[in-house]
Amino acid sequence: MNILSKNYINGQWIDWNGDTIDVHEAGTGEVIAKVPASGREEMEQAIAAADDAFESWSESSLEQRIKVLEQLHAGLKERGGEIAETICREVGMPIKLATGIQAGLPATITKTYLKMLPDFPFTEQSGNSEVQYAPVGVVGCVTPWNYPLHQVILKIVPAIAAGCTVVLKPSEIAPQSAYILAEILDGTDLPKGVFNLVCGPGHTAGDSLIKHPDVRMVSFTGSTRTGHLIAHSAADDFKRIALEMGGKSASVILPDADLGAAVKGTINNCLLNSGQTCTALTRMLVPADKHDEACELAAAAVAKMTPGNPLEETTRLGPLASAQQRDRVVDYIKLGIEEGATLVAGGPDAPEGCEKGYFVKATVFGNVKPDSRIAQEEIFGPVLSVIPYSDEKEAIRIANGTPYGLSGAVWSADQDRAKKVAGKLRTGQVFVNGGAFNPLAPFGGFGYSGIGREFGKWGLEEFLEVRSLQL
Ligand code: NAD
Repeated sequence: MNILSKNYINGQWIDWNGDTIDVHEAGTGEVIAKVPASGREEMEQAIAAADDAFESWSESSLEQRIKVLEQLHAGLKERGGEIAETICREVGMPIKLATGIQAGLPATITKTYLKMLPDFPFTEQSGNSEVQYAPVGVVGCVTPWNYPLHQVILKIVPAIAAGCTVVLKPSEIAPQSAYILAEILDGTDLPKGVFNLVCGPGHTAGDSLIKHPDVRMVSFTGSTRTGHLIAHSAADDFKRIALEMGGKSASVILPDADLGAAVKGTINNCLLNSGQTCTALTRMLVPADKHDEACELAAAAVAKMTPGNPLEETTRLGPLASAQQRDRVVDYIKLGIEEGATLVAGGPDAPEGCEKGYFVKATVFGNVKPDSRIAQEEIFGPVLSVIPYSDEKEAIRIANGTPYGLSGAVWSADQDRAKKVAGKLRTGQVFVNGGAFNPLAPFGGFGYSGIGREFGKWGLEEFLEVRSLQL
């Protein structure tokens, strides 16, 4: 077992002797680590350290920031195997995917910032004014468990690049990769106090962070419920907020689309990380006369996705991250049956041969009503709702008919038609005919899915205030 009874504050590992939080292995349910259940006191120490470090780091040179990020990038590459296995065990993502995504993406994102930073205009001219982009101040980063390092990197890399100082409160369900990150940063030239890590529950450690007056910005990824709390408390002292929250994204398959390719693309996206992905395409909208054929194709595709040990190279569908998450998803599957949707594949019973761990069968519902709860609420598990529509107008109305707006997809034999429909979706990104994920594109949500954008220059701008000097 990995005992991590320490926090990283002001460039030092501070021992923790209080209560701890158990971290469970998704595939077995066993306790694999213990981390501090820190509270207000530790958070205040970390915020004070970040506040003390701010003046000097905000005036650091771009070369100094780039050097630290290069060292971070090298550390992420070097420890990639360890990061992948750690997250595979905590979250349940199969090791092959975890290696490419959970460990690979953080290094890729860091690299994109390294490429962009030398040319980023930290000052520009507008008429007789010099416009300066200045770091926002101490940033509180609060992150979830599903892509635990990726979501941290998307915050701390642009924050550090902007000249901000950071206090990170990672998810208590999957915290270990944040410790690896702190170890890597401890070995770089980053001055003490610029990055601090405090581990603890949301309602104590997280609450103290988001409400502290010396924290000038909260960058949050997690549930819409917690995002609401953060937005309310930030209003008290006009903190800046960046919120990346839930989704209920629609894959709109137009009548002229290659149905087989569209269903396969939708299923692969929906089941990635066992559906524990905020951008998952969990609603598949199909022309009513193709509904049954689409359901057959979906059932055939999920039949190949038998849940298995995430540590095995051949596994494509792993368990969910926690017992609580598994129970929640199973309850939604039961609800779908109660709501009268057709169970096409899967179901609420545990998959055979997976007695231990938090496994759920990949499940497909057909004839789902657009306003039913399984079509409106984020399930965050391997559950797809197939929704029939009569014409393109109705498809767009259904796609836009939830409070969320994070992602989406459109499929058509006619790329221009697909782009036209994509332009009508009230969502932060749309995959057109299976277009590839792009780490240079802005990422974020409309409506209940978020405020602000991550990735690329948009992610950096979140951490910058604008000042104009009239000359
Ligand atoms: P969560 O909101 O329960 O927790 C996220 C973080 O917030 C954790 O660190 C938690 O400890 C902290 N937290 C909880 N209560 C808090 C409080 N009162 N004050 C301060 N901090 C608090 O979310 P989760 O269950 O960890 O993650 C799943 C959710 O995250 C899903 O809804 C998913 O869609 C969303 N998500 C969104 C994105 C995105 O980019 N849009 C990415 C990944 C996950």
